[in-house]
Amino acid sequence: MAAKVFHNGTVLSWNEDGQSIEVLHETSILIKGDTISATGKNIEVPSDAEVIDSTGKILTPGFINTHSHLWQTAFRTLAPNTTLASYLKSYSQSSQAVKAFSAEDIYMSCLEGYYEGLNAGVTTYVEHASNNWDLDVVKRGFDAAVDGGARVWWCCALDDREDVTAKDVFEYINTLGKRSKDNHPLVSLGLATDAMHSASDEQTQHMKDKIRELDLEAVTTHDLGGPWPIGHNTPSIAANKGLQDLDVPIIFSHGGLITKENRAALRKHDWNLSITPESEMHYGHGQQTSRLVQDHASLGVDTNWTFSGDILTQARLWLQSVRNYLLVTRQGGRAVRRDDIGVLKVAAKADIVCFNGDSPNMVGWTDPIAAVVLHANVGDIEHVMVGGVFRKRNGKLALKEGEWSAFSKKFAEVARRIQAKVKVPPQPEKFMGVTEFGDVETMTTRRQA
Ligand SMILES: [Zn+2]
Repeated sequence: MAAKVFHNGTVLSWNEDGQSIEVLHETSILIKGDTISATGKNIEVPSDAEVIDSTGKILTPGFINTHSHLWQTAFRTLAPNTTLASYLKSYSQSSQAVKAFSAEDIYMSCLEGYYEGLNAGVTTYVEHASNNWDLDVVKRGFDAAVDGGARVWWCCALDDREDVTAKDVFEYINTLGKRSKDNHPLVSLGLATDAMHSASDEQTQHMKDKIRELDLEAVTTHDLGGPWPIGHNTPSIAANKGLQDLDVPIIFSHGGLITKENRAALRKHDWNLSITPESEMHYGHGQQTSRLVQDHASLGVDTNWTFSGDILTQARLWLQSVRNYLLVTRQGGRAVRRDDIGVLKVAAKADIVCFNGDSPNMVGWTDPIAAVVLHANVGDIEHVMVGGVFRKRNGKLALKEGEWSAFSKKFAEVARRIQAKVKVPPQPEKFMGVTEFGDVETMTTRRQA
């Protein structure tokens, strides 16, 4: 692979000593293989290097989405007003809706999810792969993670279902271990579990043994907390079960009601909270206390079919502040305990996003971080590179095979066929199957007589 140079851009670099962003103007980035090998004003450029003129552009690290379930992408716009109660009953991995998908549909759905992110500058995912009702469906989800071209911590859900048992999941991951390391350097293997709180000592021990044996690189789980009847997988529970002995990063998703004790456990064990701003607003999770633990937090998207799938929107929604820049870059890297992603510096992975700074919504910028976090949109992203390979070039996705137009036609067919099969059901009788619904405030735009 020939060396590549982003020449003469404004680089949002990382200062290791100050642990802060360093803005470098008129600076070039040299990439050799999958890694940044030099940055500076007058770097030595190999004669055969491919030079990308970045004059007037802003170069940032690729963005990191620490929570997604991409198999659902084919549902896009199916249920824009769904509640969390309806979601679990009607569109989740435990619902009848999964019957609408073939394994091939899951592949297409996941692939489009990765493409949506790459187009928007997301170069790294922590995928909570809840597509686990059938082993072929699990497998095609993994294939999409590989073929999508992003860097993925692919965390296979461990739910011990009737058709796919924990044993099946571990056996399958075992077959991937070598394949992944040899042939798919961008995909790391992990585990997703939502039964952390209810697992027996024996089940927990078995999971820990397997995480060690299979050399898994992340664990992720839903932590809703507060009054929610499900998703009580808190940092304190993980600590009580001794998961800190594993020396594996754990990513807790949401935590909108995270308590002081749980915030302390998160910090103590260097675990991370993935805050998903749009999802938590959409479903009404509550976001009372997650802001208090931003030193151990990053941002995620969650269900990209019910709202936007780009991480810039999440950054903009969360506190509406330029400080969110680190939550979608450096902090995402820390979530998976990696110091070489989410930053632009020598020896970091070449995961780079290039913004056109000259669009109607960006022109005139003097603060490049504010320009990116508060003014840019997906249309301003000209190039996206993952591990030294362009995945978006001159505003167009660079697919592994074929053209976007061919893929999009195929995906649209899958999405429409699936959505025609999945009925939009009425609100379930019981909330999450366990309790009565209370009275809720209703609002209407219809004028009252
Ligand atoms: Zn989720």
